[in-house]
Amino acid sequence: MMDTAFFLRWIAVVTERVRADRDHLTDLDRAIGDADHGANLDRGFTAVEEALAAKPPETPADVLTTTGTTLIRKVGGASGPLYGTLFRTLGRSVGDVPEVSREELAEAFAQALAAVMKLGSAQEGDKTMIDALAPAVQEMRTSFDAAARAALDGARATTPLRARKGRASYLGDRSIGHQDPGATSMALMIDALRAA
Ligand code: ADP
Ligand code: MG
Repeated sequence: MMDTAFFLRWIAVVTERVRADRDHLTDLDRAIGDADHGANLDRGFTAVEEALAAKPPETPADVLTTTGTTLIRKVGGASGPLYGTLFRTLGRSVGDVPEVSREELAEAFAQALAAVMKLGSAQEGDKTMIDALAPAVQEMRTSFDAAARAALDGARATTPLRARKGRASYLGDRSIGHQDPGATSMALMIDALRAA
């Protein structure tokens, strides 16, 4: 079972890795976007860290909802509302309980995937964060290890794709040959779950 401390650890690992990979994520976004993805997420998770420290959460849902709400407020761009919706849907789905099982979290992730796909109207193969999230959700009932591997594979598999959503889609065929920044950050988040 995963308690509030587990979810705080997950977010702390994400924050640390976003900071470490900030320039790499921004470089990926420089190739097929506007070179702000790493900076956007770093700003967002720094604010999340502050929000969680200012008002220590009492439940897993508190951690997830505060994270999502803060990301919506601070990140902006395409990825802010999408990541915000992911975390807020996770919070709503796990409900007001002290501990969450892996099966319950897997179900919450399935709902979060549906919410993010609806908000961005993206499908798998459109070269977005969905290409890392969808395969991870498939594997989450098996293990976090399998989910992390699927997310990393999914992010790498965006390289040969042509973007059909978001800023990169304006480039048409010129988006081919570059790994999607949002799929890369999504893989980082799922791998952080395994690490937590
Ligand atoms: P912006 O594109 O506004 O500068 P970011 O650079 O922070 O925002 O995020 C870009 C990432 O957002 C893309 O790499 C892609 O993975 C993701 N993204 C963009 N549009 C969508 C969408 N409609 N659905 C899902 N993900 C999307
Ligand atoms: Mg960008």
